[in-house]
Amino acid sequence: MSSQRYERNLADTFDADGSDSDEDNDGDDRQRLMRGSPSTSSAEQTTTESSSTTQPAPVIERRNTHLPAFVPPRPGGRVYGGGSGSDGVFANLSAKPERGVEKEEHPPTYEQAAADAAPPYWETTILAPGLGGPDEVYIEGLPVGSVFSFIWNAMISMAFQAVGFLLTYLLHTTHAAKNGSLAGLGITLIQFGFQMKTWGSAGPSAGGDPQYTQPPDPNSHDFDPNQAQAGTAGMDNSGSSGGIGDIAGSEWLAYLLMIAGWFILIRSVSNFLRVRRHEQLVLQSPDRGLTVPVIAEGEEAETVSSMAWRCSGKTNGELINNLFRNGLIESDRVRDAMLKVDRAHYTPHPSTAYQDSPQSIGHSATISAPHMHASAATSLLPFLHPGARVLDVGSGSGYLTALLAELVCCEGKKGRVVGLEHIKELRDLGEGNMSKSERGTCLMEQGSVKFVVGDGRKGFIDEEGEGECWDAIHVGAAAVELHQELIDQLRSPGRIFIPVEDERGNQHIWVVDKNEKGEVKKKKTYGVRYVPLTDAPTRSS
Ligand code: SAH
Repeated sequence: MSSQRYERNLADTFDADGSDSDEDNDGDDRQRLMRGSPSTSSAEQTTTESSSTTQPAPVIERRNTHLPAFVPPRPGGRVYGGGSGSDGVFANLSAKPERGVEKEEHPPTYEQAAADAAPPYWETTILAPGLGGPDEVYIEGLPVGSVFSFIWNAMISMAFQAVGFLLTYLLHTTHAAKNGSLAGLGITLIQFGFQMKTWGSAGPSAGGDPQYTQPPDPNSHDFDPNQAQAGTAGMDNSGSSGGIGDIAGSEWLAYLLMIAGWFILIRSVSNFLRVRRHEQLVLQSPDRGLTVPVIAEGEEAETVSSMAWRCSGKTNGELINNLFRNGLIESDRVRDAMLKVDRAHYTPHPSTAYQDSPQSIGHSATISAPHMHASAATSLLPFLHPGARVLDVGSGSGYLTALLAELVCCEGKKGRVVGLEHIKELRDLGEGNMSKSERGTCLMEQGSVKFVVGDGRKGFIDEEGEGECWDAIHVGAAAVELHQELIDQLRSPGRIFIPVEDERGNQHIWVVDKNEKGEVKKKKTYGVRYVPLTDAPTRSS
């Protein structure tokens, strides 16, 4: 009932029937004023509410305004200025916004809020239909603009110098105009510099000052000032002819202007090229920049997202080869293994299977981005020899479990990979996903791969493997500490790849190595974002 009323109120507020005529609004306002008037009785209010099941909903439910300060207890007889009972100035008080009304408004549901979420902070690129056509790209809040616009603004800024620059810069509406204007300023400064330099060295001699002594080589920057100075000894410098000191000073200024000019020019051109390149990437990307790719810190969002677009593919092969080409898969062995595991078997939506981005698999878990899987496998690679034993904590979709199996079950050797999940449904999901391929089914049937339920923080004692330790342990969720059990279950030598979250909420991959002597070395590497390694959720939650 209350949700029905809420929906009606929303519909009314946003004029669900689509009518927006003034007449309607007038009527509405009149009704509101009427309802807001102190003379409206609470009985009337109740009726409106109770009849709302059969009649069209009231526009906005309002209660009477009760302002105790203005409703003095009525003594018998006539009251002057008698509060809500009278009209006039006190009637207007009821038009004040009322707290009671606010109470009846409900906050949006989680789904509504999520649907209206602000874009991620790094997302500064939007595609908008505008003057530039339906595919105009806005980067950092500005359309990109054309090369022509860049040149045109540079020319205006250059031709009219300071005024031209100010006009074009202040009125710019595109990156092209802004950078063109700056490029114009740069050229103007370089020109000034040149003029000052030639004027500084040629000016006085052109003036034919008889007292001016030319240095041995006027074009030389390292002439001997003492020599020149000697020639000017006893010269009267009080006139405007300018001595050698003045010439040197203006030359310095000239050089400074030229350096500043070149700097501004190069910067504006490179900025413009950067936004143009960004625009091209947005237009080329199949999802038009709408994925949520950011993974590692130290990588600019822009780099990561453009990498994601460049690396995504239409097939598994395309995805993996693109990752390899762009250096996100560094090893041939990892690439070949990834080519054997079809990511579409492990993602919930086949349409997004070949994107280089993490995707939700339910139960607050995600399948990591392929470049992250590649990075984990590459890090563990020295310990993933044929026949090795590997524990995959937080196996989730099962993708990495399958990939690790491809790396250790080869060259006729039967490796062993255990996928450990604390949510049974996800354990089953991993197993189900892997059984979608003949190879996956075969690996599980021959006992090379097994999915089990358990708390990954405690590791896993593999009874079938006679309690043997692990050559490599991969942890797919962020721990708050390096769990000793995992270190204890590691072979000598062996390696753990584990994301750990610090007290400030930052996560980093830690690589923990145990050498032949059983000595343990821990190394903190790059920043990441993983779901937490936690207690299993209770059934009711
Ligand atoms: N490698 C997986 C990552 C899944 S997300 C993939 O790419 O598909 C991390 C997983 O860790 C989740 O499935 C979550 O259920 C699991 N997890 C979190 N805490 C755990 C714990 N204490 N023990 C075992 N698994 C855990």
